[in-house]
Amino acid sequence: MLQEARSQVAWLIGAHDTDVLFTSGGTESNNLAITCGISGDQDRNEIVLSEVEHPSVHAKCEALASSHIVKFVRTTSDGVIDIEHLKSLVGPQTALVSIMMANNETGVIMPVKSACEVAHEQGALFHTDAVQALGKIPVNVVDLGVDYATFSAHKIHGVKGAGALYHSPGSPMSPLVFGGKQEYGFRSGTENTFSIVAFGAACVFAEAELNECVEGIAKLRDALQHGIVGSCSDVVVNGADVQRLPNTLSVCFQYLHGDGIVLALDRCGVCVSSGSACASSSSKMSRTIGAMGRSYCDLFGTIRFSLSYLTTQEQIDYVLGILPAVIHEQRQLSPFFSREKLPATPFISAQLEE
Ligand code: PLP
Repeated sequence: MLQEARSQVAWLIGAHDTDVLFTSGGTESNNLAITCGISGDQDRNEIVLSEVEHPSVHAKCEALASSHIVKFVRTTSDGVIDIEHLKSLVGPQTALVSIMMANNETGVIMPVKSACEVAHEQGALFHTDAVQALGKIPVNVVDLGVDYATFSAHKIHGVKGAGALYHSPGSPMSPLVFGGKQEYGFRSGTENTFSIVAFGAACVFAEAELNECVEGIAKLRDALQHGIVGSCSDVVVNGADVQRLPNTLSVCFQYLHGDGIVLALDRCGVCVSSGSACASSSSKMSRTIGAMGRSYCDLFGTIRFSLSYLTTQEQIDYVLGILPAVIHEQRQLSPFFSREKLPATPFISAQLEE
């Protein structure tokens, strides 16, 4: 059953079965990929990543700062990595470049193939965190040319507790976990068969979702976006002008704190997240939105709406029906952060000016 699941995952990402390892999820796969990616050429001591990587990439690289120089690629104001800046950072000392395929907060799609070419031209290895992209846009690891790619089951309606790491044939491998040599010796420990088998099945369904539902999901997302922009004041859609995942809508309600909106919507039966759900226990000031160069009053009020093939037009209409009142109420409650109630304190005024 494990081998069948491996084939199903490999099939969805365009890989050979033997190049897919099962892990506990995206976090472990990202950590493992970075460990492997820096293990190849000991003379190279630099890691390059984008400013908007998931914490499981960001924090892992920061933890390596005593032995490696960690460099961050800028994003444009739309949230896409600046490829010219990447070229200026990658050189003969670069061991690994890690750029996500799509951002978990904004859904913005990154030019991974071009970024991978930049890395390879300098002899560096390339990893992509494709957790958000899988099942939403086609992912073919061989076409992309990446050395490592990360996936997580629960983002494609699988069961929590399973993930995968793709590694290209011949790329350096170095285990994080030692023991009974399961998963070709690269990830010891008894396999989580239940979640892995469900992951394989989810991949089969994800292919169907990709072919049959993605257009409809994007239409619903666009309807939600237009409805929000038309009915609420002081809103900014993050990444509106660039390629985004079809299911993600990231909206900044300026001058507000996202937590208040999340709770108010939750009371109405609508589940959204401020920032990204998978980093929801950390600070609510969004690193991703900050990296897009936005002002202080935009950093806290970003809400992510996620849709799927299960989302209906009725649900979108319901959200659009209640949202203006929810936002109005939040603006009344907000002590400082509304345009009508701009703070008198010099500190906050200065921050808002910025
Ligand atoms: N990478 C991205 C882009 C994510 O959105 C997430 C969130 O779940 C992860 C990695 C972590 O994956 P997991 O929750 O399976 O550890």
